[in-house]
Amino acid sequence: MGVNLKDKLFEVLPLISRPSQYIGSEYNAIPKNWEETDLRVALCFPDTYEIGMSHIGLKILYHILNKRPGVLAERVYAPWVDMEAEMRRRKLPLFSLESHKPLADFDIVGFTLQYELSYSNVLNMLELGGIPLLASQRGPHHPLVLGGGPCAFNPEPIADFFDAFVIGDAEGVILKLADTYRDWKKSHADKESLLLALSKIEGVYVPSLFSVEYKEDGTLAAIRPKSARVGEVRRALIQDLNLADYPVDPVVPYLQPIHDRLAIELTRGCSAGCRFCQAGYIYRPTRERDPQKILELFAESLKKTGYEELSLYSLSIGDYSQIIPLLTALMNQCERSKVGVSLPSLRAGTLTLEMAGQISRGGRKGGFTMAPEAGTERLREVINKGISEKEILRSAEDVYRAGWDLIKVYFMIGQPTETLEDVEGIADLAYKIQQTGKKAGKPGARVHVGVSSFVPKPHTPFQWEVQEGTDSLRAKQQLLRRRIRHRNIQLGLHNLESSYLEGVFSRGDRKLSRALLIAHELGCRFDGWEDQLDFQKWIKAFKHAAIDPDFYTYRERAESEILPWDHIQTDIKKKFFLLERKKAFSVRTTRYCRVGCRCCGVCDEEITVKFHDRAPLWIEGVPLENPPQTPVKEGIGPDKDDPADEGDPATPLYVANALPEAHDLDIIAVTSRLKVRSAASDSLQPVLRLRAEFCKKGEMRFLSHLELGKVFHRALNRAEVPISYSRGYHPLPMISFGPALPVGYEGCRELADFFLREPVQPEMFQERLNPHLPPGIRIVKVYPVPLKAKAISEAVDRGVYQIKIPAELLKAETHNQTRPSKPWRYILETFKERKELVVTREKRKKGTASSPAKVDIKPSILSLEWSELSSEFLEMKLILKMGNGVTAKPVEVLQSLFDFNSEDLAKVKFARTEMLLKD
Ligand code: SF4
Repeated sequence: MGVNLKDKLFEVLPLISRPSQYIGSEYNAIPKNWEETDLRVALCFPDTYEIGMSHIGLKILYHILNKRPGVLAERVYAPWVDMEAEMRRRKLPLFSLESHKPLADFDIVGFTLQYELSYSNVLNMLELGGIPLLASQRGPHHPLVLGGGPCAFNPEPIADFFDAFVIGDAEGVILKLADTYRDWKKSHADKESLLLALSKIEGVYVPSLFSVEYKEDGTLAAIRPKSARVGEVRRALIQDLNLADYPVDPVVPYLQPIHDRLAIELTRGCSAGCRFCQAGYIYRPTRERDPQKILELFAESLKKTGYEELSLYSLSIGDYSQIIPLLTALMNQCERSKVGVSLPSLRAGTLTLEMAGQISRGGRKGGFTMAPEAGTERLREVINKGISEKEILRSAEDVYRAGWDLIKVYFMIGQPTETLEDVEGIADLAYKIQQTGKKAGKPGARVHVGVSSFVPKPHTPFQWEVQEGTDSLRAKQQLLRRRIRHRNIQLGLHNLESSYLEGVFSRGDRKLSRALLIAHELGCRFDGWEDQLDFQKWIKAFKHAAIDPDFYTYRERAESEILPWDHIQTDIKKKFFLLERKKAFSVRTTRYCRVGCRCCGVCDEEITVKFHDRAPLWIEGVPLENPPQTPVKEGIGPDKDDPADEGDPATPLYVANALPEAHDLDIIAVTSRLKVRSAASDSLQPVLRLRAEFCKKGEMRFLSHLELGKVFHRALNRAEVPISYSRGYHPLPMISFGPALPVGYEGCRELADFFLREPVQPEMFQERLNPHLPPGIRIVKVYPVPLKAKAISEAVDRGVYQIKIPAELLKAETHNQTRPSKPWRYILETFKERKELVVTREKRKKGTASSPAKVDIKPSILSLEWSELSSEFLEMKLILKMGNGVTAKPVEVLQSLFDFNSEDLAKVKFARTEMLLKD
């Protein structure tokens, strides 16, 4: 299977949507020699490529593992439903992208668990990979299945499927884990000894080495190690981010992921203490990367990727102690390299006049994101998001005045103590923000209101709370729908069934494994996708597993109850969470711990809040601000004497700290773009136009026209070719292609024009660009054309196509007998005599549903020639009209001549060999 799997998979690609996500071979991908490695790790993201390729954690692990000699790490994503259906039909296993090896061939299969709604995808991927689902069914010859990410902080609902979990910062653990596995592999010992050895690594949890006991009421009686040789489970933590390995050459995807840009992690951890936010606690304490290090990472990564946009990542970027000096220095660099910067989580307090000045160096401004999370000041104090309405509106005014048209505001409903007044407060605040925009000189000021439902999370002060019922949340959603009726205020509501399921699994225990297994058998997957979630199947699964899901959602836990995640140590004391809970219900805030330690229990002599203390006082000619001091320990206690308990007026509003979970921040955050490319700069205007003839062959035939454009743009950036940019708010590289080549077609002599802002010799252009293009795309000829020459798409009027039809499709005995078919020779020989060749196309008029329309394509077929049928194929040559009027597609010609269906057509090889210019 292994040898031919790639070919078999590639036969499927013409039949499915967006095939470029399955081909691998992206720039910076690391295809190590399988045979020369003794440890092979599959890094799996249990969702689609477009989601998974935006995840920083897997990029870090991919980089660390592949750097180690003898170790190979490859990426695996969940195939979309159309691909999965074809794979199942053809019995093809789930595969890795680098070598297209079956998942079962790897030694270690590691999943990152970013959100609970991906659990069914984990099971689906294991099954597609031919790996037994339950850890107890897997022996030493099966891959070791690992999990990590935020969900691993309560791994119990999925404990039965995993051999081990990595808790916390995986980069500190992964190599120890790899070495332990390699030693075990050489020793030929049994699997139990491997699991025991793994359990001794700090940050690793082996669930099968722990026993779970329940009380009669279904709550936990105990979770304890089965043997004295198993120690306590503590999360792994990287104290100094500057010493941690960070990839400067991440894989540059073909298919556009949700975050299609260079991402650099600025800080890890957050000291704000929002009481609903799990990420804010499990990644404590705050650790910053030095600004100088960020600048170095940026400069090197840019060269190695060619990205046109940079994003700085953090749970709260505005709290980075040197945000303004860093941004100033970055924007200085960006202006030189024509790169935009986006900040997914910018704190409003940092939007000073100085920042606005920086921003005005850029062009278009996308939506700016604010996350008040609650509609009233009272509720914001309950959740420790202590920000007044006045401050929110002042920030909104700053944002609109700085040039943004749109502010996105995120709220949650169903938070503890919430009343209908708080829900109405969401609508009121949205209106006030919109009015503020109008007063600030933006008559068309827009507001997007995103409302999700609160899901209590483990390791937070709200871990004991009841999750609000779906019916009551629905009523609140309806209230918001009634209240928000303004053409410039758009309301987005999160799916309630998804939140319910998330609630069940986020605080669930091991009994849930049964339900998950049944749900998988019933066909559940992609539960995080609203159009894929089948909630009725889940209800059925819970019923068959004899589990009441409400037990996990609609039940307040006693403070004395043993919680399923109590044995996973984050070092935050339960006492701290209980005090925070008490303060929440008495509407008191807790101050920001970077200015005064609240003694949560995380920091000690070795682990502290880490600012940029190793940085020089100047970066790139920009002065740094005074480094903050490590917070003074103030203690948890007595509320009355603690000014923090009165609420801290300086507590910042987090902008774009939009959603409560790390994965949400990581994946869904909407950016406020600070485009720094100087749109009107004359120095970017073209002085030379070069026309390149290039081929697009092999795997590259699966790239769409848009993806091809990105490939060229990034290759130009890496090769440092001085491309010009269009003027306007959203400058684009001035590259102009010929008519789009359909996905799946090879191109032998495609055309593209490149407008350059500095003269470059044609030979030099070709020489510089080719090494930066993926295999399969090659420039074969370059020559100058006049700057004002016609666009290629206008100049081209004919396309020449070579079509190879497999012989099996033309032989009468193998041709589909259900369709009338004449011998191929007769069809081709009588083609000229036909008066018309009618095909049916879907036509859509603006604002109406599409409807079928008959079109005669015969006049656009200028020439049709063919060779003799060989034992393998019949070769046809078509010349088709291009440009204005009715044009034909080669696929349509074959469909109408031979009555081929899509399966037949997937076997045909299409190539555009030439585009002919008007005489
Ligand atoms: S110990 Fe203090 S400074 Fe450290 S994370 Fe906890 S509250 Fe913050």
